[in-house]
Amino acid sequence: MIPTEFDYLAPTSVDEVLAALAQHGDDAKVMAGGQSLLPVLRMRLNAPEVVIDIGRIDALRGVRDDGDAIVIGATTTHADVGSNPLVAEHAALIAKAITHLADAQIRHRGTFGGALAHADPGGDLGPPALALGAEFVIAGQNGTRTVAADDFFVDLFETAIGDDELLTEVRIPKHTGWGAHHEKFVRIAHQWPIVAVAAAVRVDGGTIAEARVGLANMGSTPLRARAVEEALAGQPATDEAVRAAASQAADGTNPPSDLNGDADYRRHLATVLTRRAVLAAAGA
Ligand SMILES: Cc1cc2nc3c(=O)[nH]c(=O)nc-3n(C[C@H](O)[C@H](O)[C@H](O)COP(=O)(O)OP(=O)(O)OC[C@H]3O[C@@H](n4cnc5c(N)ncnc54)[C@H](O)[C@@H]3O)c2cc1C
Repeated sequence: MIPTEFDYLAPTSVDEVLAALAQHGDDAKVMAGGQSLLPVLRMRLNAPEVVIDIGRIDALRGVRDDGDAIVIGATTTHADVGSNPLVAEHAALIAKAITHLADAQIRHRGTFGGALAHADPGGDLGPPALALGAEFVIAGQNGTRTVAADDFFVDLFETAIGDDELLTEVRIPKHTGWGAHHEKFVRIAHQWPIVAVAAAVRVDGGTIAEARVGLANMGSTPLRARAVEEALAGQPATDEAVRAAASQAADGTNPPSDLNGDADYRRHLATVLTRRAVLAAAGA
């Protein structure tokens, strides 16, 4: 289907975007890589009067070192994030998740901020963002505010970004030296996950000192597997101990049932993939 007619704006600064959002309100939609927005417009699930293309704003692109965090600009493509040496060194979990995200074409068009703002509960970037304690920098008419990952994902396709606001960058606290692994279960390569698990683990002398685990497609938003994280702390990095902790992976989740699998199947998958992801991240 062809989208309904809309006006196209291509501002070159964040201030211009904010002014356009203030002027057009609900009638405007921001476009980053367009990989999720354009299908939505073509299916006529949304019909904005104005599309604001943020792809020409240089200030929103790139990865930089900011002391104890790395900062990823909202319109940095998945391909650029996935191949960035700072990301590889300090946030390896994100680089690993991106190797599983869609195909090369989409990774070269789709953006880090666009995927997180889209907030698909099956998206590959929500779980690592939660696991690494990302902070979302959001610009609005009254200045800039920062939202913790735990408060960013509000509901299905809904985030803390207001209609008149723009996600400008994402700060990822450095997890240098942490082991990381991403497990994604699909029927067909390059598909969205039926369930995915992102795990970051800090091992000290054979003991799991800290573990962070994020889940995709286990509820209406990406989730932290907090019961697993608590059960892993202080445990030896062995199959037996990790298996016992991972058995709690589905605690507090509410997975959907669909043609790819019912909720019980997803609960089972979450425990299996969590065990695999944590063991691999711990190097066990
Ligand atoms: C065939 C296909 C397969 C895919 N497979 C996967 C997959 O396996 N795993 C996965 O994680 N993703 C997958 N994706 C989605 C991909 O990751 C997209 O890149 C992503 O969802 C959207 O990023 P985008 O930059 O294209 O955003 P857009 O499509 O431009 O925007 C998406 C939404 O976010 C809003 N938005 C974008 N940027 C901002 C911003 N800076 N501030 C505020 N709001 C903003 C837009 O208004 C829109 O509502 C797939 C997409 C396709 C088409």
